[in-house]
Amino acid sequence: MKRFNHFDATSVEEAVSLLNGSEGPAYVMGGGSDLMGCLKDNLWMEAPERIINLKTIPGLKEIRVEDDGLHIGALVTLTEVAESDMVKEQWPGLAEAARRTASPLLRNMGTIAGNICQENRCWYYRYPDKIGGRIDCVRKGGKRCLAVPGDHRFHSIFGAVNKCIAVNPSDTAPAFIALNATVKTTKHEIAIDDFFSAEMGAQSTILDRDEIITEIVVPLPEAGPTSAFRKIAYRKSIDFALVNCAASVSVVDGKVTSARICLNGVHNNPRRCEASEELLIGKELTEELAQEAGKAAVAEAKPLLQNGFKVQMAQTIVGDTLMDCLK
Ligand SMILES: Cc1cc2nc3c(=O)[nH]c(=O)nc-3n(C[C@H](O)[C@H](O)[C@H](O)COP(=O)(O)OP(=O)(O)OC[C@H]3O[C@@H](n4cnc5c(N)ncnc54)[C@H](O)[C@@H]3O)c2cc1C
Ligand code: SF4
Repeated sequence: MKRFNHFDATSVEEAVSLLNGSEGPAYVMGGGSDLMGCLKDNLWMEAPERIINLKTIPGLKEIRVEDDGLHIGALVTLTEVAESDMVKEQWPGLAEAARRTASPLLRNMGTIAGNICQENRCWYYRYPDKIGGRIDCVRKGGKRCLAVPGDHRFHSIFGAVNKCIAVNPSDTAPAFIALNATVKTTKHEIAIDDFFSAEMGAQSTILDRDEIITEIVVPLPEAGPTSAFRKIAYRKSIDFALVNCAASVSVVDGKVTSARICLNGVHNNPRRCEASEELLIGKELTEELAQEAGKAAVAEAKPLLQNGFKVQMAQTIVGDTLMDCLK
């Protein structure tokens, strides 16, 4: 790991000023469970000059319900989200997404903001440069993607962004999209549909380098709504998703009045399934309709040589997650 200067910020304003005052790249740190791995393996083209610890800032760790919905402070841990009775009762899809993330230890460390900002897990990208030399793929400023001609069994089934086929690995991102959340930062309020951007070089979001998430707001459930989350991974105990899915559905008088469905692990950005959502509106959510929605979700899939199996997984998980919404 290259040397960097570590700062304990005492306020959000101080953290922003430390980011702006850095001569080289600077990063904020929540739990550090992703950031430390990136530093250790020297992932970035330019090593950071400053790391600014946010955990020393009071007031970012609250989870509360207000008139406009659930407010989750940036530093709230995944364990706190997963174990909150309030979240489990009213936003079960989000509680389940947090519960299925990583391991108990990582959930105790990992923050909700860090989870939606984490970097991709492509094994070429993450390859530690101290073992056998640095792999400079497109995402690291190189000329080619190693995964396209190489081992891409866990990569995108919906094509590339800027020649990169790495997928977004977050478990809570699809839940926030299904629940139509808003990300509040030191500069903006960002609708979650606009938050993720694999176009932005190495990072996975549209955040400016001096922009810090302060909280995420999830609207109150509408009449008769419910939400669910499912994840398919090789290991149950600790593993990134091969495919995951979150859905939120409102049912009035037996008919679906609104629906939001999101897949992740299938493309560079979390992928909202709008064609599937449209299919459901005005109809009774039956097993048959849920399966139709699953087919619509993968109608535009373009799997690569080694990852066709993920298309079937994505189709099935959409249908199963929708049926979970009725439980
Ligand atoms: C072994 C292992 C298994 C894992 N398994 C999973 C899994 O199954 N599912 C999953 O979703 N994730 C998984 N993760 C990824 C991730 O570490 C955690 O999900 C965690 O939530 C990240 O949060 P953090 O607070 O530790 O982030 P950090 O490491 O502190 O930060 C991650 C990124 O977010 C940025 N950031 C942090 N806070 C803010 C903020 N307030 N504003 C702006 N930017 C911010 C940082 O600058 C950094 O770029 C795993 C990680 C490991 C090491
Ligand atoms: S998929 Fe993206 S991160 Fe992985 S090797 Fe290709 S360009 Fe790099």
